[in-house]
Amino acid sequence: MSAPVPLIVSGATGRMGQAILRIAATDPEVEVVGVLESAAECSRTKTVDFRGNTLPLLSGEDAIAVPPGAVLIEFTSPEATLRHVQNAATQGLKAVIGTTGFTDAEKQILADVSRETSLVVAANMSVGVTVLLDLVSRVSGSLPEYDIEIVEMHHRLKKDAPSGTALALGVAAATGRNRTLKDVARSGRDGLVGERPAGEIGFHAVRGGDVVGDHTVTFAGIGERIELIHRASSRDTFAAGALKAAKFLNTKTKGLYSMKDVLGL
Ligand code: NAD
Repeated sequence: MSAPVPLIVSGATGRMGQAILRIAATDPEVEVVGVLESAAECSRTKTVDFRGNTLPLLSGEDAIAVPPGAVLIEFTSPEATLRHVQNAATQGLKAVIGTTGFTDAEKQILADVSRETSLVVAANMSVGVTVLLDLVSRVSGSLPEYDIEIVEMHHRLKKDAPSGTALALGVAAATGRNRTLKDVARSGRDGLVGERPAGEIGFHAVRGGDVVGDHTVTFAGIGERIELIHRASSRDTFAAGALKAAKFLNTKTKGLYSMKDVLGL
């Protein structure tokens, strides 16, 4: 067996960071060699345990020793991710980016960084959503007259809306009709909004409780509708996808990749 892929997990005490550490501990093909957190969290929590080893929790601003071939895994905030990934590229670190909520300008920065190193960027690292994106694009193209509405529900602590996954589903739906999402997207409806224009893609964000992530894409026609639904019941599915992405990057030096590339779909 080849040497395990060295991982640096950023946002290590967060919901996704914890899921990644738990799944990585059972995977002999990876080894967590560093853990990053915000300066505030580092002052509260000093260490993190990985397979019985105590790893010091470092802030992204600390200098960290980076072994060759190491992959940074980011599930933090857009600001922290951009800072870390730009630093990482200068150290030859590759990165798996699960963080959501980037603006178009921030996405362009990631694309620029991918000319120096290899990145996987995916708003949803699950196998199911990766397949769903493809389905949505095909159904959208096959039913050009049908109204598309995307409803997502997440836990009450989620910061961005609509979710990155909902937006990715919207891009897939728009692309299936040769449209650009920003020209047809409509976020929520409130008040006397009038009739629904043809071609619109509607987004609705629901928040509550501890829901990991539900997405429903409805294609509504006259007398019928199709609903494509994905429900994540555990963050482990995203964590497993992130580890697959890190192993995929082991063989890549530069470029911007998606989960579709990782899964060979
Ligand atoms: P969370 O709030 O539980 O965790 C984020 C962690 O990042 C926190 O522990 C926070 O202290 C830490 N952090 C903040 N600033 C930091 C910095 N400068 N350096 C290092 N760490 C820092 O959130 P979460 O639910 O784990 O989600 C994190 C991100 O991942 C969100 O953008 C979310 O939408 C996204 N997400 C993506 C997927 C996917 O499959 N791509 C799945 C779930 C969540």
